[in-house]
Amino acid sequence: MSKDVVILGGGTGGTMVANHIARTMRNEVRSGEITITQITSSDKHIYQPSFLFVAINHARVQDYTRSQKSLLSTGVNLVVDTATKIDAASNTITLQSGKTVSYDILVIATGAYPDFSSVPGLAEAADNFYTPEGAEKLRDKLLSFEGGKIVITIDVPHKCPVAPMELVFMLDDLYRRKGIRDKVDLLYTYPIGRLHSLEPCANWAAPKFEELGINSEIFFNVESVDPDKKVVKTVEGSEVPFDILISIPAHRGAKVIQESGLGDEGGFIPTNRHLLKAEGHDNIYVLGDATNLPISKAGSTAHYEADVVAENIISELRGLPPSHYYDGKVFCFVEAGLDSATYITFSYDKPPAPVPDSEMIHWFKLAFNEMYWLSVRGML
Ligand SMILES: Cc1cc2nc3c(=O)[nH]c(=O)nc-3n(C[C@H](O)[C@H](O)[C@H](O)COP(=O)(O)OP(=O)(O)OC[C@H]3O[C@@H](n4cnc5c(N)ncnc54)[C@H](O)[C@@H]3O)c2cc1C
Repeated sequence: MSKDVVILGGGTGGTMVANHIARTMRNEVRSGEITITQITSSDKHIYQPSFLFVAINHARVQDYTRSQKSLLSTGVNLVVDTATKIDAASNTITLQSGKTVSYDILVIATGAYPDFSSVPGLAEAADNFYTPEGAEKLRDKLLSFEGGKIVITIDVPHKCPVAPMELVFMLDDLYRRKGIRDKVDLLYTYPIGRLHSLEPCANWAAPKFEELGINSEIFFNVESVDPDKKVVKTVEGSEVPFDILISIPAHRGAKVIQESGLGDEGGFIPTNRHLLKAEGHDNIYVLGDATNLPISKAGSTAHYEADVVAENIISELRGLPPSHYYDGKVFCFVEAGLDSATYITFSYDKPPAPVPDSEMIHWFKLAFNEMYWLSVRGML
């Protein structure tokens, strides 16, 4: 009897897990001892970190889009469909097409999405760079902008915790180069009492904001937005006018997780922090943005987790105990302008310590943007 491994989600985490298992177990796949199936909503795979560069017109969405099929190793069956229900009691997944898929081992890598309906008026008034369409629309506004007030609002949790800060540094640099920085008021806001949830990042950014004249307001929790008057109101009582509002709203776990009763109130799956199994479900692994783990929702997180999940599934299929444990490792480049960047690396136990930003680190970030396609195939 073959063992069926089903991977739900064809983004960064799901693709890495599928390729890792298929490569390592190619003989078992060939002989039919195991099957590997990936179910994902789209036949396209978009590299989301590119949206930051799309927003400032340094990249196009189509340059960072590949067919999902082209990224998968031989031996992975691709099903392009949307899961509408996961029934953990019967080990089955129902798809939008009406089909049902059963599994012995399930990997959930369904990501997270920005919930623009979380605040009244936000969907109508705000721009964003967290979706491909949003980044392209924002690009057109930012490039034709000749002066006024740009307000950035952030709610948690959201993926890539440093991306809003990166955008504000890049906009500062962009408008300096364009010669209109004195006409642009940049206001970066943050919901808690410092500039970033990771304290070392907040401490790294604060003197730079001061030096560059980037304004900030902390304890800034958006209550509503008036799209006609172009004013943001906060829970704390501020009323801030804007010409462009860039919002990163609180994210939620995928609808299928919410509707299958597998998530917490935000739709994130309670997950064992070292073994990456869904709490209470021995044959369900979870990785990437879909987990409820207290660690950044980032592609690098999904990458490190994918190795743990894949290796432990291989052990399980071979009748062995788990051999790999996730330590919370994350690595992120952080742009500090248009041609300078720093990086942070941290884990459950080790806080980040940003190094001084440099042009060389920026080039490493751009290089990784190209190397991603090798990395997601498991060749790096
Ligand atoms: C602007 C921006 C900048 C970023 N910059 C960085 C960065 O510099 N560094 C970094 O490490 N990370 C960065 N990230 C974050 C990174 O892209 C995500 O954390 C990463 O993609 C998470 O991987 P994942 O596999 O968990 O989810 P995703 O890659 O989002 O994949 C989720 C997959 O699940 C599928 N799916 C969802 N629901 C269903 C369903 N019901 N049925 C079938 N399929 C479904 C989706 O179609 C998708 O294929 C950035 C993100 C953004 C938006």
